[in-house]
Amino acid sequence: MTDAVSLIRAKRDGQRLDDDDINWLFQAYARHEVADEQMSALLMAIYFRGLDPAELRTWTAAMIASGDRLDLSSVGRPTVDKHSTGGVGDKVSLILAPLVAACGAAVPQLSGRGLGHTGGTLDKLESIPGFRAGLTPDETLAVLASVGCVICAAGSGLAPADRRLYALRDVTGTVESIPLIASSIMSKKIAEGTSALVLDVKVGSGAFMTSYERARELAETMVALGEEHGVRTRALLTRMDVPLGRAVGNAVEVEESVQALQGHGPDDLMEVTLALARQMLALAGIAGDTAGDPAAAIADGRALAAYRAMVRAQGGDPDAALPQAAHTQVWPAPASGWLTSLDALAVGIAAWRLGAGRARKEDDVSASAGIICLAKPGEAVQAGQPLLELRADEPERFGPALAALEGAAAVSDQGPPPPISPVIEEVGPA
Ligand code: URA
Repeated sequence: MTDAVSLIRAKRDGQRLDDDDINWLFQAYARHEVADEQMSALLMAIYFRGLDPAELRTWTAAMIASGDRLDLSSVGRPTVDKHSTGGVGDKVSLILAPLVAACGAAVPQLSGRGLGHTGGTLDKLESIPGFRAGLTPDETLAVLASVGCVICAAGSGLAPADRRLYALRDVTGTVESIPLIASSIMSKKIAEGTSALVLDVKVGSGAFMTSYERARELAETMVALGEEHGVRTRALLTRMDVPLGRAVGNAVEVEESVQALQGHGPDDLMEVTLALARQMLALAGIAGDTAGDPAAAIADGRALAAYRAMVRAQGGDPDAALPQAAHTQVWPAPASGWLTSLDALAVGIAAWRLGAGRARKEDDVSASAGIICLAKPGEAVQAGQPLLELRADEPERFGPALAALEGAAAVSDQGPPPPISPVIEEVGPA
């Protein structure tokens, strides 16, 4: 028999928690016999002391056991999902899910909403008239079985302990802990029932992890957790110093995703999307012949057809006009030369201030607000030429957004910067 104070003291003093301690903790927390302030103190102790691999495995298993685990065995195709740690202009899921479905796998994308400067996949899709992200488990399975992909909200039954823990972490300065992030993400993905998972771990100014070392450690930790829980898991580290693609916002990112599915996606977006698609298909055991080749599935229209079918199956009209912002303003290049950087964090914050993101979970987002990058690093620009187009529903949003962009672009007269691939490396099981 243990108690919360003993566990907090033990972790505070650097001791490990055994399986019985962790299982007791989650059961008592579910019965409200462990108070939020005690859980918060323990989270802070974990923030400083960490969890070893065995503790983390049990912690994650307890979070999964706090709710339901979906059974996708009726879907009839190999299941594989992708999770991104979040970035600016990261609309990859919108393209990837139908693309991988078009190649023969089933993609159950159970997602969250955006918070802060990185956008949420569901917010983007909800800019499509009629689109429903809130599906019942039966509806989710039906769309997955008929279309091959579904992108919807993770229901409240999946890893409910994570929802309570995340709310505490958010207000106690304990979000930035690798074991807590890894268990939070992986408990939801494992509970979702996918057989395989590819993680897109972003690194750079616009990412959760700004250093390569921390991103690599997070990727290795999540890959190990997935494999320990029977989910074949790989990660790609990808750059997030510059917005991905050209559009940042909700409707604008849907528009860019459709262009990508039509074969007209920007190079950096397509490189990340195709690298993730190939990993997903390899994990699903789908060979790279024409049917299983993601580039071919875009070229012959199968990926676009799967996207349109998914939107329709979720109540949306893929042909409907997307909402347009009432006001636009341009942001000019500061000098002539080659654009060498365009800070993802600054652009993300500016888009958020224009209304594309939310500050609190309860806030609404604007479907039409956002930013179009009219030039990307590597391109030649003239002083005063429009670099960004800002879009907003209310003109008073431009002032704060423009303030966030102060110093966001660097221009050099030393010739074009060398091209840098957005994909850094793959992380597999140790
Ligand atoms: N996303 C999550 O779901 N959990 C975290 O802890 C961080 C990002």
